[in-house]
Amino acid sequence: MALLVLKFGGTSVGDTTRIKNVANIVKKELDAGHQVAVVVSAMSGTTNQLVKWTQEISALPDAREYDAVVAAGEQITAGLTAVALQAIGIPSRSWLGWQVPIRTDGMHGRARIQEIDTEILKKTMLDGQVPVVAGFQGISPEGRITTVGRGGSDTAAVALAAALKADRCDIYTDVDGVYTCDPRIVTKARKLNKISFEEMLEMASLGAKVLQTRSVELAMKERVRLQVKSTFAEDVAGTFVVTEEEMSEADMLEQQVISGITYSRDEAKITLKAVEDKPGVSAKIFGPLAEQGINVDMIVQNISEEKNARTDMTFTVTRGDVDRAVKTLEDNRAAIGFAAVHVDKDVAKVSVVGLGMRSHVGVAQTMFRTLAEKNINIRVIATSEIKISVLIEEAYTELALRALHTAYGLDAA
Ligand code: ADP
Ligand code: ASP
Ligand code: MG
Repeated sequence: MALLVLKFGGTSVGDTTRIKNVANIVKKELDAGHQVAVVVSAMSGTTNQLVKWTQEISALPDAREYDAVVAAGEQITAGLTAVALQAIGIPSRSWLGWQVPIRTDGMHGRARIQEIDTEILKKTMLDGQVPVVAGFQGISPEGRITTVGRGGSDTAAVALAAALKADRCDIYTDVDGVYTCDPRIVTKARKLNKISFEEMLEMASLGAKVLQTRSVELAMKERVRLQVKSTFAEDVAGTFVVTEEEMSEADMLEQQVISGITYSRDEAKITLKAVEDKPGVSAKIFGPLAEQGINVDMIVQNISEEKNARTDMTFTVTRGDVDRAVKTLEDNRAAIGFAAVHVDKDVAKVSVVGLGMRSHVGVAQTMFRTLAEKNINIRVIATSEIKISVLIEEAYTELALRALHTAYGLDAA
């Protein structure tokens, strides 16, 4: 008998028929002799609607009230799923974040889970009751409702699996695993049977929203066995996220140099024109941005040829942060010293990820050549040990993904 945490995403609980289907999946696992705890997202579209309503009233709403509103979607699906389980004879009840409780810090909108009290949940499971936990939400030290960032039900599920010491955490979603690229864009994408935590972490943080980045981080740290699989074809094997040691030699051999290609449209490019090329300038630019909690991603600075000359500094932030970033730069204009600030939101980041990059040369060259052949201009480049990212014009995103997928030999036969 195993203890399983089953998480169902927005499409999987998208209407009442689908919620009944979820109840049947849970029943199958119970019939197989397993103990089950369930985590649910809001119905797909609900959280977006809740965010929109909040924004219609205020561009900068009180973060505590924002969370009170956007956490509501999961309350509905947790209750409905418990009802669906009861309807097929399975004792069940819903648990909201504050009821468990799932304790988080007070960073509203992107709170971190600090502790989950599992005592009551364990007891109810032993009594034969299936807990259905509302994902995405927790309670702050001040006793207010918090949310853990968009896509955060994945993280709630992994955190619960870690706290319960579950044998596995299954992320049920609308695709049957992790693919070499978003299968909705690249139809030739291939499903991976296994992917290493390191690669999954890079892919998630570079835009593959199939798993929230923090959920991968947490599963890696807490050694949670993690599987991504389909709600709509639950007999099809999914993708296991595993440690590098767990990748067998056969897996490694089968693997291409590149395991995945990702994209993110949530990018904006900021260029500061004519900043001084001297020590301390970067600190003056990026210090105030960091103080405002604005994450800067890719950075390039041109080198000026002459002494005391001025140069341009270009970097990227998420689109949601761009207005605050520009305001922060303008507020610090005198201290930084620049001629103008230019913003470009029509950009996307495309990245290739793979452990094989450590031991192969020419990976970057393939990327640059492929994009050149399609006449796609590269604006900014960033690399790490196992990834290369480029910033391109947004309109070319799909073309770039498909061309790169073919160039790296990833297309399904
Ligand atoms: P859920 O609501 O179940 O959490 P999400 O929409 O958050 O589902 O994540 C699933 C989606 O992630 C898929 O529908 C797919 O379009 C997208 N996706 C992006 N990159 C990948 C990838 N490499 N493999 C699989 N799915 C991906
Ligand atoms: N419902 C939340 C969101 O849309 C959390 C999740 O789906 O994981 O972001
Ligand atoms: Mg998701």
